Amino acid sequence: MTARNRNVLISGASVAGPTLAYWLARHGFRPVVVERAAGPREGGYPIDVIGPATEVARRMGVLPRVRQARVEMKGLSFVDRSGRSRARVATGRFAAPGIELPRGDLVRILYEATADDVEYVFGDSVSTLEQDGDGVNVTFERGGARRFDLVVGADGLHSLTRALAMGEERRFLRHLDHYVAAADVSKDMGVDDEVLLYNEPGRMAGVYSYLDRATAIFVFRHPELDGADRRDAALHGRVLTEAFAGDGWRVPELLARVTAAPDFYFDSVSQIRMDRWSAGRVTLAGDAAHCPALLSGHGTTLAMTGAYVLAGELYAAGGDYRTAFARYEERHRGAVERGQAKIAEGAGRLVPGSASAIRTRNLLSRFWMLPAVASRIGSLLPRRAPVLDDYGSGVPATPPAARPA
Ligand SMILES: Cc1cc2nc3c(=O)[nH]c(=O)nc-3n(C[C@H](O)[C@H](O)[C@H](O)COP(=O)(O)OP(=O)(O)OC[C@H]3O[C@@H](n4cnc5c(N)ncnc54)[C@H](O)[C@@H]3O)c2cc1C
Repeated sequence: MTARNRNVLISGASVAGPTLAYWLARHGFRPVVVERAAGPREGGYPIDVIGPATEVARRMGVLPRVRQARVEMKGLSFVDRSGRSRARVATGRFAAPGIELPRGDLVRILYEATADDVEYVFGDSVSTLEQDGDGVNVTFERGGARRFDLVVGADGLHSLTRALAMGEERRFLRHLDHYVAAADVSKDMGVDDEVLLYNEPGRMAGVYSYLDRATAIFVFRHPELDGADRRDAALHGRVLTEAFAGDGWRVPELLARVTAAPDFYFDSVSQIRMDRWSAGRVTLAGDAAHCPALLSGHGTTLAMTGAYVLAGELYAAGGDYRTAFARYEERHRGAVERGQAKIAEGAGRLVPGSASAIRTRNLLSRFWMLPAVASRIGSLLPRRAPVLDDYGSGVPATPPAARPA
């Protein structure tokens, strides 16, 4: 193993960050992960670990735990104002060949798989980055300063690392006209192992009920908010409440519970599109580099696979970051671009824009058993945009799986 560029700072301890840290540590690097939250962040509704990411999980030895946390939904019903089901789809008919599990469970599993070998710093964030020929000087919001050989931003859609090293967010963020909000609600809000979805033109409210919990989700068409409003939870609550004002079903009750929830999650449905993911000694992984858009169902898979490839390329290049970052982009970019193109097309159909489009979607759902119709319905349903094939059936073979001597 090379002695070059072994000290790597990773910003973000969600999915991409710990996956990258695992593989870097295993390849003989010394990763340090800084996370703004006080601990691994819970929250979010179930996400999918698909195909190649399942293989990454297997190689990390966490696949049994991932499988154990699996959620199995029996069906999805579209309900009307009075709560009557207008159409029901048996979930097995559109399930992707992956593992669906609560997002927080995956984050915790990945964290625990790395906690013994990796230094984690919670409750802090990078504040400034300054590169020179030999490394990167980093200052932190809580006041410290450290020097690293390389820095990786795995800090999500609104990556600060990206803003510091590559430029402001609006150059790269493509707002897909919708916002999403989610939070855990009490189990009595849903039906066991079912998804209930309620639509009005341009908006959708729903409940996923699984295991011992239920998560409410709202998706709605809304113009982009100012950057400054991104962390204003009170404003988010107001925007959400106004968007769904006067709606039927159990929407008023769900709104009240979600906006009061400690894990209230609110974000834009957006993609990150960049010509390059690296600038000198700084690179990006996961949503920070290439968010395919929330609800795509593939953000987690791309994040895990990309992190695996990046670590492997750094190892294969003996720590030569120029070579490694170029190969990482070369190998990973095709899947990302194909996935993003498909999801952008599908995003407009996630929340039908008119009453007639909602009726058509419900009608088509009743004919689910017809294969031709089924494939069209698949693109109407959340989190199932068809990008699984983009990696083929396995993860890229480059990274050596062996632990370095
Ligand atoms: C709380 C939460 C809930 C989510 N819910 C859903 C969901 O319901 N459905 C879905 O499809 N996707 C959801 N996502 C996004 C999903 O996790 C990602 O699309 C995907 O897993 C890729 O992960 P990532 O690690 O690249 O980015 P993310 O999961 O977005 O993680 C980024 C991490 O970086 C941290 N961070 C941000 N800024 C800084 C900073 N300046 N310094 C240090 N750390 C920082 C964040 O706290 C977070 O832990 C959610 C993300 C979060 C953070």
